[in-house]
Amino acid sequence: MQIREIPVDGYETVVIAQDPDSGLHAIIAVHDTTLGPALGGLRMWNYSSEEEALRDVLRLSKGMTYKSACADTGLGGGKAVIIGDQKTDKSEPLFRAMGRFVESLGGKYITAEDVGVGIRELEWLRQETTHVTGLSRKSGSSGNPSPFTARGVMRGLRACAEEAFGTSRLDNFHYAVQGLGHVGGDVVLGLSMLGAWISVTDLNEERLEHFESLPGVNVVGMDEIYDVDCDFFVPSALGGILNDETIPRLKAKVVAGCANNQLGEARHGEMLAERGILYAPDYVINAGGIINVAIEVGPGGYNERRAVEKIENIYRALKEIFATARREGITPEEAANQVAEARLSEAKAKNGAVPDTAPSQ
Ligand code: NAD
Repeated sequence: MQIREIPVDGYETVVIAQDPDSGLHAIIAVHDTTLGPALGGLRMWNYSSEEEALRDVLRLSKGMTYKSACADTGLGGGKAVIIGDQKTDKSEPLFRAMGRFVESLGGKYITAEDVGVGIRELEWLRQETTHVTGLSRKSGSSGNPSPFTARGVMRGLRACAEEAFGTSRLDNFHYAVQGLGHVGGDVVLGLSMLGAWISVTDLNEERLEHFESLPGVNVVGMDEIYDVDCDFFVPSALGGILNDETIPRLKAKVVAGCANNQLGEARHGEMLAERGILYAPDYVINAGGIINVAIEVGPGGYNERRAVEKIENIYRALKEIFATARREGITPEEAANQVAEARLSEAKAKNGAVPDTAPSQ
C-alpha cells in the first residue's frame, strides 16, 4: 500500500492511501487532537475525483473537532473517506486494507461508521486495527450509533420547538425530512409515533416504500422537499444543501436535522437568520452518535446509561446556544463555534501551547 502525506494548512495530518491489490483509494484527515484522539466516521462514496473526496474529508474532519469540543466528549476531530461505490465495491480485502491504513496512524485517528459503511465493514477493519469503535454490542462495543444520533435529534427538535414556537410538544407540526437512512428513518419513526405530519423524500425507492405506510407520512419528490409548506425542515441525507438556491425556497420556521455540514458556506447561516429561520447547528444536534462512541473510548468502557444521560445534554446545549445567539445578535452557528473554540483555546492554554483562533467553519 502506498501512503502519502499532504500538507494542509490548519490540519494536523492528512494522508492518502492507494492499494492496487484491494482497490483501496482512501483519505484520512486528522484535523485537531488538542482535546483527545481524533474520532470520526468512515464514509464510502462514489466521489468523482480525489479532489472532491479531499474537500469532503477536510470539511467533515474539521466539523468533528467542533462537534466533539461542543459535546465535551474528550475527543479530537478526524474523518476518513473511501472513494468507491458502496453498492459494488465493498469487499473484505478492501476494508482490511483500510484497517491497515487506520493502524498506520497509531491511534491518532479512531474510526467509526458513517454513510455507506456499516458494522459488517467495521468488523473486517477490526481484523487489522484496534482503533475502531461502534462494533456489535455482543462484542462489548457501543454498536450502531445511529439510534443515539436520532435520539439526540429528537431532543434537539424539542429545544427548537420551544425557541421558535414556545411549546415543547412536537406532535402538532409538519416536518419535511430529506433522507430516510439510519438516522432520518428513526427520526421519522419517532415523529410518526407522536402523531406528527411528515413529508419525506429519499433517492432510494425501497426506503420510500418502507416509510410511506407509516401514520402521518407522505412522500414528495427529491427536489420538491425544499418547497414543502412545513414548520421544520429536517436535512438527514448529505451536506451542503442549505445554499443560495434552496434557502429562498424554504417555508419552514426551523431547520434542524442530522446531516453533517448542512450549510453550503458559513454565510448561509446568516441567510437563514435574515429569513427568520431558526437553525440548529448540525454538529450540535447530531452529536448523539459521537457521544455514544466517546463513552466506549473513555474510562471504564461502554455504558449505555451514561451515554443516554449525556445525549440528553443536547437539549440544554441548544437552549444555551439559542440564548447566546439572541443575546449577542449572532447566528446559532456562530454561538456554537464560540463554545467549541473556547474549549479548544482553554485546553491549548492548559497544555502550554499558544492558543490560536480556530478557523470558523
Ligand atoms: P444513510 O446512508 O443511512 O442515509 C442517508 C439517506 O439519504 C439514504 O437513504 C440515501 O438514499 C438518502 N439520500 C442521499 N442523497 C439524497 C438526496 N439528494 N435526497 C434525498 N435523499 C438522499 O446515512 P445516515 O447514517 O442516516 O446519515 C445521514 C446524515 O447524517 C449524513 O450526513 C451523516 O453524515 C449524518 N450523521 C449520521 C450519524 C449517524 O449516527 N449515522 C451521526 C451524525 C451525523
